[in-house]
Amino acid sequence: MTPRQASLLLLLGLTVAGPVLAQAPAAAPSHQGNRVDYRIGARYNGETHRLEGQETITWTNGRGVATSELWFHLYLNAFSNNRSTFAIEGSAAHEDDEWGWSRIKAIKVNGQDVFGTFEYTQPDTHGAAGYELLGKGSKAFLAEDDRTVFKVSLESPIEPGQTAEVRLSWTSAIPRVRRRTGYKDEFLLMAQWFPKLGVFEGEAGWNCHQFHPSTEFFSDYGSYHVTLNLPEEYSGKVGGSGVMVTSRTKNDDRIEVEFEAPSPNDQKRVDMFGKLPVVHDFTWTADPKYRVEEFQFTWDDWKAKSPAHEDEVKRVRKALGPDARIALRDVKVTVMIHPERLGQARRHFEATANALFFYGLWFGEYPYEHITVVDPVWGDNRAGGMEYPTLFTAGTGLFTSPDEYRPESVTVHECGHQFWYGLVGNNEFESAWLDEGFNSFADSEALLRAYGPRRSTTRYSRLPFDGVRSASLPSGGRLGDVLNAREWKWDFDLLDGLPVIEKIAHGVVRPLPSSGMVDWWRDQPFSTLSSQWSDPRWGDRSGYLSSADEDPIDMDAWTYVSRRSYRANSYPRPAVALRSMIGLVGYDAFLRGMRHYSRMARYGHPVPEDFFDAFNEGAGVDLSWYFKDAFQSTKTIDWSVTVHQERAEKREGWFQTDGGRFREIEDIEKQAAEEAAEAEAEAVLPGTEGTGEGQDVLADSISDDLAAAAAAEPAEPEAAGDSDEDTDENDEPKTPWLIQVTLQRRGELCLPLPWRIEFENGDPEEGVWTRDQQLKKPWVRLRLEDDRKLKSVVLDPKRRYYFDGDMSDNQWYADGDEVAPLRWAERVLNQYGHLLHWYGGIGG
Ligand SMILES: [Zn+2]
Repeated sequence: MTPRQASLLLLLGLTVAGPVLAQAPAAAPSHQGNRVDYRIGARYNGETHRLEGQETITWTNGRGVATSELWFHLYLNAFSNNRSTFAIEGSAAHEDDEWGWSRIKAIKVNGQDVFGTFEYTQPDTHGAAGYELLGKGSKAFLAEDDRTVFKVSLESPIEPGQTAEVRLSWTSAIPRVRRRTGYKDEFLLMAQWFPKLGVFEGEAGWNCHQFHPSTEFFSDYGSYHVTLNLPEEYSGKVGGSGVMVTSRTKNDDRIEVEFEAPSPNDQKRVDMFGKLPVVHDFTWTADPKYRVEEFQFTWDDWKAKSPAHEDEVKRVRKALGPDARIALRDVKVTVMIHPERLGQARRHFEATANALFFYGLWFGEYPYEHITVVDPVWGDNRAGGMEYPTLFTAGTGLFTSPDEYRPESVTVHECGHQFWYGLVGNNEFESAWLDEGFNSFADSEALLRAYGPRRSTTRYSRLPFDGVRSASLPSGGRLGDVLNAREWKWDFDLLDGLPVIEKIAHGVVRPLPSSGMVDWWRDQPFSTLSSQWSDPRWGDRSGYLSSADEDPIDMDAWTYVSRRSYRANSYPRPAVALRSMIGLVGYDAFLRGMRHYSRMARYGHPVPEDFFDAFNEGAGVDLSWYFKDAFQSTKTIDWSVTVHQERAEKREGWFQTDGGRFREIEDIEKQAAEEAAEAEAEAVLPGTEGTGEGQDVLADSISDDLAAAAAAEPAEPEAAGDSDEDTDENDEPKTPWLIQVTLQRRGELCLPLPWRIEFENGDPEEGVWTRDQQLKKPWVRLRLEDDRKLKSVVLDPKRRYYFDGDMSDNQWYADGDEVAPLRWAERVLNQYGHLLHWYGGIGG
């Protein structure tokens, strides 16, 4: 155990859980340093969309340093005006009902009123990197109107190990749903809705970032007790993190519901890693229109659900060894869904169960007794696709099927966040990729196992049809619009100035505006659509290629150069980097590394280095070089192979022979032939053996190569089957093949690259272009001389890596596939034929 690892254990407050400890209730705290417990009471007014709240926060300083400040998030203020950091970096709302805010009315710490020290602050823009570049006369933009972070000062500091009690009351205006929080009609999704403590990090101070459009959240672990007072219409239609412990009707047409997260049972049950469950957020939802469906996930049902499920249990068992505990706990699944999509409730449950099963199998059990799946209100998907502890929102559509992964992909992804975000609580501001990237990797793996390859569809007015167009429709500016009969536009500038004519000199006609019905009509018959099935893992690769080298993966989420770079580097690129690690160390070691990290970091706040260290330790490898290159640099790779193959020329000229004499090749060959004939004649006489002298002369007088060529008589088996190739009309032996294979790398990412070479009539040969060799030189050239013709060269034949920017040059075949292009050409022709026919019919 290195000091680095020891400090990680200490930081996370973890015990090294052996089998004995795992069985017994752990007395040691299982969460990271600080602990925070919330008791919240809130009353919602459905007419004004205002919320009045009070909360008591019990916070224990778990870092070895005293603090005389407390920092808080007020996330709803991101929506308060068009000068918040959120508005400036993203987009401000302009609809009146889309503004939302929170205002603190009172705050006391340990009974002392500290409201007088209340101060808003903007830690990410004040003194942030980049501002020193500004010239003297320029005024740095500091987002001074951002109100998403505030702090208070304390007279007496909170010492290490001490607990402080914070009481505060506030009022919020709830916005119409934005960025996954707010109302729409009676529908409520209340996320990031209460004043929330930042994370104290000891010497580094408070970690409490402004709300940026490309960041999510970060907070300490603990428990929540929440009491909500709501209009009576919400009775039976409220869901929240943890479980509802009481619900009662009040005498003023209102109800009061109480939630606890984790549930009272969960707070007493040690999970399979020997830790007591905690959570780091609380979210609730309510809608009188909800239909509430209950299901049960059980390990026994799911481990035998399909051959793919059974196989994965075997693989994990093999990787982790016979003693590892892999059985998962049963979980109650509540689906809150709108009536028009009730038919999808079971599919949401199955997708949730698949995520609980595969993620639990790989990264350790989901430790809570309950999970809530929310299907957000129709027509406002801004509430969809977001994760909270033991509750998440899914995405939806009216017409969907599992084999196009709808809504399954969003459900699996958001449920997967229970593991990466919920249980492993990385800082989503600073390392979004630690949860989004890990989750993107795992959701593709789970989807493929649970649902097989993904079917591609084309949608007309939201209705899915099997297949995709073989070729894209004409597009690109005015010409594309004209070819598609979308828009005809004319400008006759010369006619400008002539009063009547000017009116007709410029005009637009839109014969066929884009619409589902028209597109559907145009693409008939659907036989021109080609059926397409894809592997979600390759989907990750195409996402990664959209921004492969603009930024390193490992960056603060709001500092990527663009939204595109943020997305690529937080989701698909880390997924590709993780998947390629299976290629480097094998599935078993990979799984051990990931599971070890998951166990170490559960209920903790890991930083990237904690992942790198824990993976190396768990997998028993040292991939430090890889973590640097793949996660902390912009290095990319494009390998390629080129082959040059031709028959060696016949020998010409003067060759030095035995004794140093130069002789012309014709001479040498003539003598060799005569001697060979003599030797043959001698050999046929019974009882007379050749002296061997003749052969010696032959062997000495010409090179081994030529001898080999001479020996390759037409009678040789390989030539018999392929006589055109190996002999010419005169039946003269052919010269050997001279083959030149060049492997090349463009880009700086060096990974050990397997290759496979196959000759005609031979077993394939395999090898590796090592990382060291690649670091020394960006290419390597093999020169071969062989009687057999080279058939193919393939780089990374088992597709271990997903990094290569252009895979079309990773293989070489002596014979091209002439059928595939024809097949595609046929299809494209067909599609355009129909298209032209359709254009011809317009107006007819
Ligand atoms: Zn996500």
